[in-house]
Amino acid sequence: MLFLIPIIVISLYVGMYVLRTDRTSDCRWRQTGKEAQSIAWRCQVCGAVAQTDKGEPKHCGAKPGD
Ligand SMILES: [Zn+2]
Repeated sequence: MLFLIPIIVISLYVGMYVLRTDRTSDCRWRQTGKEAQSIAWRCQVCGAVAQTDKGEPKHCGAKPGD
């Protein structure tokens, strides 16, 4: 059964990558405010809020494990 281990590891990596990609593409970040050092964002899909130095957030943490 040792041959199953690399298959499981690869499946986990692929699964995490797919989930991360889906989550990123599902989120629609909209700028809600701008401060001196940061920009405030809100996701219109799941309602998450985030702040970045510049540019849209790369991920959404509103639904971890979803
Ligand atoms: Zn979102």
